[in-house]
Amino acid sequence: MSAQILDGKAIAAEVTEALVGLGPRPGLAVVLVGEDPASAVYVRNKTRMAEKLGFYHEQLNLPATVTQDELLQVLHRLNHDDRVHGILVQLPLPKHLDSLAVIDAIDPAKDVDGFHVVSTGKLWQKRPCLSPCTPTGVMEMLRRTGVPLRGAEAVVIGRSNIVGKPMVALLERQDCTVTLAHSRTRDLAAHVGRADIVVAAVGVAELVKGAWIREGAVVIDVGMNRGVDGKLVGDVEFAAAAERASWITPVPGGVGPMTIAMLMVNTARAAGALL
Ligand code: NAD
Repeated sequence: MSAQILDGKAIAAEVTEALVGLGPRPGLAVVLVGEDPASAVYVRNKTRMAEKLGFYHEQLNLPATVTQDELLQVLHRLNHDDRVHGILVQLPLPKHLDSLAVIDAIDPAKDVDGFHVVSTGKLWQKRPCLSPCTPTGVMEMLRRTGVPLRGAEAVVIGRSNIVGKPMVALLERQDCTVTLAHSRTRDLAAHVGRADIVVAAVGVAELVKGAWIREGAVVIDVGMNRGVDGKLVGDVEFAAAAERASWITPVPGGVGPMTIAMLMVNTARAAGALL
């Protein structure tokens, strides 16, 4: 089999086009602490997309030396600003800040990243909620393959709070049988070999070998790793996996663009402009 490509760029463009000119006008505030270059790029891309779609948008650049109290005051202000429906604090934060306390200071109704403890609880209890953007984008891609999810064997590799764990919850909500693999998992190859759906969210270049993939599986590569030549590489051996998979996401141009698109969807939902 030779896999069809799940083109995240094209799907993201389709998703975001539907968000232009919504009313009430959605508003997004993005908070960047410090000067990490990768975070600065992510934040700029998010703000630019909000601008492109005609959303109200604010980008707040705070110094790396900002105190916990000062940051909480900024969030308090945004929580009470009616123009702002979505608040995102770019992670990771400098070490002196308590990330969990910072995220929990965001009004859950404005938690467009879906990382608040209230959002997490609602996600696991199958209640309506704002769900984390990257795994939500993965679900949108899976939906577009038309591959039935009910009863499918899914393996998620990586157990972070922002990708792996919410990915498990979202797949389970669609009646997949989900295995969560992580750094202590014995025989990762055997788990992957059983999967109809593989989601790799590890951060180790080409950890998942093409030969492990079950014939006809859907392969979603969340990983973004810099190769020795500076190029972006995923967590999956792309060419070899594409020989066996039915669908596969490229890196770049796969899950990455979907993350920003789903952030815009969450912002529109938080504004009440979208169901
Ligand atoms: P993380 O470092 O928080 O978590 C990585 C997880 O991988 C851990 O749970 C760990 O147990 C697991 N792991 C590590 N080594 C392993 C191994 N050898 N075998 C099995 N599991 C192993 O990372 P994260 O924030 O979840 O991000 C994961 C990857 O996804 C990174 O490459 C990141 O850049 C990328 N990412 C992409 C997007 C996007 O929009 N495309 C968004 C978020 C993260």
